[in-house]
Amino acid sequence: MSGATHAREQGSPLTFDNVSVRYAGRPTLALDHVSVVAEPGKMTAVVGPNGSGKSTLVRALLRRVALQSGRVTVGGVDVASLDAREVARRIAIVPQREEPVLPLRVEEFVALGRHARRSAFGGMSADDHAAVESAVARAGIAEAIGRRTDTLSGGEWQRVRIARALAQAAPVLVLDEPTTFLDIAHEMAVFELLDGLAQQGQTVLLVSHQLNLVARFAAHIVLLHRGTVAAAGDAEAVMRGEILERVYEWPLVVTRDPAVGAPALLPLRGSGRQRDRPSS
Ligand code: ATP
Repeated sequence: MSGATHAREQGSPLTFDNVSVRYAGRPTLALDHVSVVAEPGKMTAVVGPNGSGKSTLVRALLRRVALQSGRVTVGGVDVASLDAREVARRIAIVPQREEPVLPLRVEEFVALGRHARRSAFGGMSADDHAAVESAVARAGIAEAIGRRTDTLSGGEWQRVRIARALAQAAPVLVLDEPTTFLDIAHEMAVFELLDGLAQQGQTVLLVSHQLNLVARFAAHIVLLHRGTVAAAGDAEAVMRGEILERVYEWPLVVTRDPAVGAPALLPLRGSGRQRDRPSS
């Protein structure tokens, strides 16, 4: 590879094409012919209620579940035809949950992101060290360097996992609820970081429950409901009261974010929906 090996390769769309998944023993499909296209240069968000199939989409990409139909491609190549190392060079994934098998120092854990780019016997190159350093800075975890991963708070651990994915320097970044456990400042910092990466040409696919932040930051939103796509498009197309109320089965209104004018969801009180409904 020419130039710095932590430079990201650009321009790899990630596509889920008619993907269906059924878990053993379950009567219904967890994903029923779902298609999602995450394009380079954009943040694409997958949203939906608990159990709607968001994490199953990520598992389908990781090949942790068998596809009953469809395929997942990266840069036009079927992910199923790639070995694990080739997948890791193209796609960095922050799964919803994970614990390291053994506690590691934070910098050792972040350096795992370089694994697919290193030779079998070589140590860390100057580029590997630079990529780790850059990932640590961008994820805001410099203060955690030297600590063991089993001593971190939930929010610190989340950011360390994001740093490992950034160190991977893959053209596609997939994150499953990366801001769980993060306070407001760190959550905003992650959204701004992902926005910046997308603007630099990276493909960013984000699974999130933070509809209002997604409406502000994501260029393309896919709303899942019981394993199917209930709506897809920009925030104006997806953040609609009648759609969201049906999918989330909860009374709500869609208003406007006073800061930037993006659509914003306001859940109403379930027991006092009449009282909570705006009068005009
Ligand atoms: P959440 O917001 O709660 O994380 P999700 O949208 O990510 O939910 P999934 O985890 O993809 O939802 O689950 C989709 C459906 O598949 C749910 O009905 C869930 O109960 C079921 N499911 C998930 N994993 C398994 C499994 N290993 N075996 C059987 N069913 C499963």
